Amino acid sequence: MKKDNNLLPTLIFATANPGKAKEVGELLAGLMQVRSLKDIGFTEDIPEDHPTLEANAIQKARHIYDRYSEDCFAEDTGMEVMALNGAPGVYSARYAGPQRNDLENMDLVLKNLTDKEDRSAQFRTVVALILKGKVHTFEGIVKGKIATIKTGEKGFGYDPIFVPDGYSISFAEMEAGEKNKISHRGRAIEKLITFLKQQTTER
Ligand code: IMP
Repeated sequence: MKKDNNLLPTLIFATANPGKAKEVGELLAGLMQVRSLKDIGFTEDIPEDHPTLEANAIQKARHIYDRYSEDCFAEDTGMEVMALNGAPGVYSARYAGPQRNDLENMDLVLKNLTDKEDRSAQFRTVVALILKGKVHTFEGIVKGKIATIKTGEKGFGYDPIFVPDGYSISFAEMEAGEKNKISHRGRAIEKLITFLKQQTTER
């Protein structure tokens, strides 16, 4: 029998991105009732000013936990290009400037790789969960290559220039379900789900 969603424990997802809230809410369906910042009426910007994905994810989750004292989680993602010493990394959203423009960011990565032979890269997501006041982190990585041109129109961010290992198409050419199965965020959320399931069986 399908569980009544209202009877499930609630978990706040500290994200202002409705696409991420929907995607992650679907992955956690039947286990937790995920509430986004919009659902709880939180409209301020959450600071993320640390030099690592881990610290930013924890900062975002703590920001919400300190105000609501409710179990919550946040995530931070970056694309790490080996020949660029891990850049843009934690600065992925603002690589080409504070305007946070996806096309400009991708063009800058392509430009900086013109004379480089090694085009290997990875997406890395860190999820920080605060459960009963205790912090837990989960990492998800997908490895791949930076293409020489942008292809595809699905997804978002750097998807048109990222070709995951074992594929010949970019993330932006994949259906959402296909991307989620192998993606950095999908993998980090899988680890979160395994952990949450352990907690519910131990309760
Ligand atoms: P944030 O986790 O939303 O702060 O993401 C930082 C930047 O990484 C975003 O601006 C996107 O450009 C990029 N990004 C995050 N997740 C993805 C993804 O799944 N595909 C492509 N780009 C992503």
